[in-house]
Amino acid sequence: MKVYNTLSKKKEEFVPLEEGKVKMYVCGPTVYNYIHIGNARPMIVFDTVRRYLEYKGFDVNFVSNFTDVDDKIIKKAQEEGTSAEEVSKRFIAECKKDMAGMNVKPATKHPLATEEIDGMIEMIQKLIDDGYAYVKNGTVYFRARRFKEYGKLSHKNLDDLQSGGRALLVTGEDEKEDSLDFVLWKPKKEGEPAWESPWCEGRPGWHIECSVMSKKYLGDQIDIHAGGEDLVFPHHENEIAQSEAANGKEFSKYWMHNAFLNIDNHKMSKSLGNFRTVREISEQYDLQVLRFFMLSAHYRSPLNFSAELMEASKNGLERIVTAVGNLKHLLGTAQTETLREEEKELLEKTKAYVAGFEAAMEDDFNTADAIASIFELVKFANTTANAESSKEYLQSLQELIVKLSDVLGLIVDKEEEILAEDIEALIAERQAARKEKNFRRADEIRSELLEKGIILEDTREGVKWRRA
Ligand code: AMP
Ligand code: ZN
Repeated sequence: MKVYNTLSKKKEEFVPLEEGKVKMYVCGPTVYNYIHIGNARPMIVFDTVRRYLEYKGFDVNFVSNFTDVDDKIIKKAQEEGTSAEEVSKRFIAECKKDMAGMNVKPATKHPLATEEIDGMIEMIQKLIDDGYAYVKNGTVYFRARRFKEYGKLSHKNLDDLQSGGRALLVTGEDEKEDSLDFVLWKPKKEGEPAWESPWCEGRPGWHIECSVMSKKYLGDQIDIHAGGEDLVFPHHENEIAQSEAANGKEFSKYWMHNAFLNIDNHKMSKSLGNFRTVREISEQYDLQVLRFFMLSAHYRSPLNFSAELMEASKNGLERIVTAVGNLKHLLGTAQTETLREEEKELLEKTKAYVAGFEAAMEDDFNTADAIASIFELVKFANTTANAESSKEYLQSLQELIVKLSDVLGLIVDKEEEILAEDIEALIAERQAARKEKNFRRADEIRSELLEKGIILEDTREGVKWRRA
């Protein structure tokens, strides 16, 4: 399996640190609002990476944080006259609802920055003790040039960075020894959440959060660290500097970054008024359509969100769902049970589609080509399955389409099982209709249930039902 590694700027063969296991950390959102569809891209992409690794038999320990203390959260809380904690709690709950709608699996662990402050203080103290960090008026800075490999992820030249950095210095940061240095801990301002520390009452910088949470839940070394490409610099570069300086080991073997999502060929931004939340999209589309849309491009290619592409995604997903529905329908009426000789040969042929799917995913998770393989399989099913097919053949095709789609997190088996209590209620309604000699309604109910695969039998003991 090949994975593109931002560190080497190459596709590399994936070799886990420990056989059969993968430790993966994905930087999660800052929770001050509903997540937007740009945030949804890394969620869907790296959930799919996880699912494929699991399909390959790896035991994946997947950690993804919520940044629940940050300027934007504090600002929102002040605007609303509430606490930062209330704001972040609310939007974590909303984010989890959106994730469920997109069929993004919950992480093995979703740590919260505010619950990991002790670990952050400990790591910062170690960095100070080892000369990698220094304190100025209560603020702790990381001494970037002290870490010899600073710049190795973003492939940046430190002198260029330094001249750029000087121009960008924020008020109060002119006390830094070097403009490349970044904040590990900062003093509180009036009305802000704060924690006691050896340096001042204050709060952590953003980068130290991930270094600490990754260490605590996955250990000093991990296999994959991931996020959107805007995180390469400075966030991930700084995470590497902190973790490798503190732990003395290579932090992550593979660094994966998704490209950005634009809207109608523009950068998504509040000022352009083209900002869309996942919640807004869910009012118009099943979020499975959004997932399909995200996976219809390679994760390292920029992706443009447009009404046309969403419609195309809706149709694409529908094509798979319909094929599965047809197979189930045929299954309900199939006359023979076991595979015939020619069906055995046909099933052999489906192996080529599975191989195509896997080859696409092995090539740095090319989900666009993987979807193309599912489409080929769907076409094959549509042309070879018919009323003469055996149950075993139909079932095998159905299971295969559902299984491959599930690796992409796409739910294509739509037929919801009607609940027993709903069936009983309809039967009671049918009995009442018959009593009133409303045979039309009674027949309607019988066919309605039949459509859902429920067969009614009128017996002397009353009406009995069974699933087809
Ligand atoms: P944030 O809450 O800004 O830290 O973002 C959470 C995640 O969403 C990060 O991995 C970002 O890189 C990613 N992200 C933000 N905006 C976009 C976008 N427009 N397209 C793709 N990824 C994005
Ligand atoms: Zn992070």
